[in-house]
Amino acid sequence: MNMQEYIAEAESALLHTYNRYQIVLDRGDGVYLYDMEGRKYLDFVAGIAVFALGYHNKEYNDALKNQIDKLIHTSNYYYNVPAIEAAKKMKKASGMDRVFFTNSGAEAIEGAIKTARKYAYLKDGSTDHEIIALNHSFHGRTMGALAVTGNPKYREAFEPLIGNIRFAEMNDIESIRSQVTDKTCAILMETVQGEGGLIPATEEFLKKVRSLCDEKGILLILDEIQCGMGRTGYMYAWQKYGVKPDIMTSAKALGCGVPVGAFLMTEEVGRNSLVAGDHGTTYGGNPLACAAVEKVLDLFERNHIIENVREVAPYLEARLEELKEKHSCIIERRGTGLMQGLKLDRPVNEIINKALEKGLILINAGADIIRFVPPLVIQKEHVDEMIAILDSCIEK
Ligand SMILES: *Cc1c(COP(=O)(O)O)cnc(C)c1O
Repeated sequence: MNMQEYIAEAESALLHTYNRYQIVLDRGDGVYLYDMEGRKYLDFVAGIAVFALGYHNKEYNDALKNQIDKLIHTSNYYYNVPAIEAAKKMKKASGMDRVFFTNSGAEAIEGAIKTARKYAYLKDGSTDHEIIALNHSFHGRTMGALAVTGNPKYREAFEPLIGNIRFAEMNDIESIRSQVTDKTCAILMETVQGEGGLIPATEEFLKKVRSLCDEKGILLILDEIQCGMGRTGYMYAWQKYGVKPDIMTSAKALGCGVPVGAFLMTEEVGRNSLVAGDHGTTYGGNPLACAAVEKVLDLFERNHIIENVREVAPYLEARLEELKEKHSCIIERRGTGLMQGLKLDRPVNEIINKALEKGLILINAGADIIRFVPPLVIQKEHVDEMIAILDSCIEK
């Protein structure tokens, strides 16, 4: 079958929950992807902030192949070496104390919510605790994760979701304060909002949220699923501010394409929340997924991935600013590190489609923002290549 025939087949077999771009991707190499007709694309999406290491990384691929030949799955009733090694490396990278592996980001959020509720339940025995989440946040599509996602459009048709969620504004401590009650058990937020439009928490805001939590005995849950794993120039974005969460979530780049997530917590929360029988998963933390996590964290360190982000990100930022100066339709550049956005005065779909035709993969964040979340191994010359194509796609 040719590409068009495959696309027709997909449209008749797959549930239509995505408006897909009209290409079938077939293989990847470094920061480039190839469709099944052999056309080459520069990739500034990385499977939505997933494939940090670039495609076709031999060491990563070999680690997975070796693990497949040894053992793919055991269940969580037995120990396995990759999970132990991966947990050890995650603890070191995050400074957190306890890890629970999941299969996705949304499941990591579910686990974080359960942990916070159990912690509060053990403290006062009541079951009506509240969580404060933020407007414009995104935490995933399962019922719990959806309940804390600050986008009514995603939630409405699926109500009622889990209850006792209150919403406040990002970077507005008074708005948070006004939602705190004596039932509040946790404040949940992305350190840098991704889907919601590439909005970093300010240092001042994050520090004030942390002290508010300390003052009131509330847990701080930071969602690092998109902004974590080196993307901001720090392993986890909160490390830049020295504000440590009580619970955090990770996924996306954690397995670099192997479906895996995690929620992590401090020893104090770990000792006073979930116990045997409270939470579980068949696949979560299986040897194959954890072999990926272990190798990703190993390669991050040995290949100096974070150093590369720190080197290239300011350049990307400067080139995006230049583009903004040149085109009046670009209102604002936003974001931090290799997690950037350009806000336009119009829908960006047409530009993204044009870019795709010219061999550049971009994605939106909302209708009017172009999002840039490339593999973390990109170089300045790739930034130049991207800017040249994008420039040619924006109407003068
Ligand atoms: C993608 C994302 C999620 C959901 O992760 P899935 O693996 O798609 O379930 C949650 N939070 C943030 C910040 C994300 O970007």
